[in-house]
Amino acid sequence: MSREELAALLDGEPRFRTDQLWRGLWQRGTWPRDMTDLPSGLREQLGEVLVPALEEVARSTAADGRTTKWLWALHDGARVESVLMVYPDRATVCVSSQAGCAMKCSFCATGQAGFARHLSAGEIIEQVVNARRAALPRRLGNVVFMGMGEPLANYERTWEAVRGLHDHLGFSARRITLSTVGVVPGIRRLAHEALPVNLAVSLHAARDELREKIVPLNRRYPLSVLMSACAEYLGAKNRRLSFEWALIDGVNDTARDAAELAELALPLGAHVNVIPLNPTPGYPGRGTPAGGVGQFRDHLVHLGVNATVRANRGTDIDAACGQLAARSASAAGARSPAGRP
Ligand code: SAH
Repeated sequence: MSREELAALLDGEPRFRTDQLWRGLWQRGTWPRDMTDLPSGLREQLGEVLVPALEEVARSTAADGRTTKWLWALHDGARVESVLMVYPDRATVCVSSQAGCAMKCSFCATGQAGFARHLSAGEIIEQVVNARRAALPRRLGNVVFMGMGEPLANYERTWEAVRGLHDHLGFSARRITLSTVGVVPGIRRLAHEALPVNLAVSLHAARDELREKIVPLNRRYPLSVLMSACAEYLGAKNRRLSFEWALIDGVNDTARDAAELAELALPLGAHVNVIPLNPTPGYPGRGTPAGGVGQFRDHLVHLGVNATVRANRGTDIDAACGQLAARSASAAGARSPAGRP
C-alpha cells in the first residue's frame, strides 16, 4: 500500500501513526501484530486488513546452507517461488514476476508448465521483504528478476515493484537486475525510464535459426532487432549489459557458437554469464560437462569477451536456474530437505 492508502486506512488516528505504520511495513519489514509501538487494539485491527500477500507453503535450504528456496501461495492459490543466495558478506534474492510463464523456452521448467497470471507489484516486493528478513544479519544487497516469469511481459507491475524497491526499500538501481528473454518493446520502454537498472538478456544462441528452436520469442524479435534494442538501452542508460548463456551439450557450446556470441557481445561491450544447463523434465538436452564449459569460456575470453562461469547453486533443492516450477502443496511439503526424489 502507498502512504496515502495507509493514511486513509488510519482515518481518525493521529497523523504520526501513518509514519509508524509505514516504517514498520517498509523499513523494518514487520507485520502489524509485531508493531509494538502501536496500541494493541489498533495492531489487531490493522492485522485483519493488512494481510500478507504471500503464504509460505514450503521452504528448503540446500545442504551447504547457502541457498534457500521458498514456495509461496498467493491469495487465489497461484504458486510462485523465490530463492535467496547468501555469500560471506552479502545476499542476493531472485524473485518471480509471474506465476508461470508464457514464453515457452524449451529448456525452462517454468516455460514447460505454462502461464498462470501476472504478479502484482506488492506480490513481487513482498518476496524481497521476506528475503531481506531471512538474510539477516547479512545485508540483502541485490535483487534479480530471474525467478519465474518474464518481467517485461508484466511491465507495469514489474516497474511499480522496481520503484518500490528503489524509493522505499533503499535499493539503488544498480543493485536491481531485470532479466528478459528479449521482449523488445519492454527493453525500449526501459530505455526511457528514470532508473538505470541492470539489464540481462537471456541469449543462449547467437544465430536466429538456432535461437528460434530454443527461444520461440526469437521468431517475433530476431537477433538483429533485439541487438538494436540493447544498443538503445545502453545508449540511454550507460549500464552494463549482460548476456545469459545456458550451455547445452552439443547444441550451443561449440567454437562456432562462441564466435557468433562474440560478434554480438563485443560491439555492445556485453558481459557474458555462462552456466551449464540444468536438466529439466520436458527437455532432452543436458548441461555441457565442466571441461567443455571451461573451453567455451576460454574461446570467448580469447576473442576479447568478458565472460564469467556461474556456479550452479541450489541444485539439490531444485532452486537452480529454470527449475522453479511450483509443485503441488503436498509434493512440495513432502520433499526431503536433502533434495530430489
Ligand atoms: N524470463 C526471464 C527471467 C526468468 S528466467 C528471462 O528469460 O531472462 C532466468 C534465467 O534462467 C534465464 O536466463 C533463463 O534462460 C535461465 N534458465 C531457464 N531455464 C534454465 C535451465 N534449465 N538451465 C539454466 N538456465 C535456465
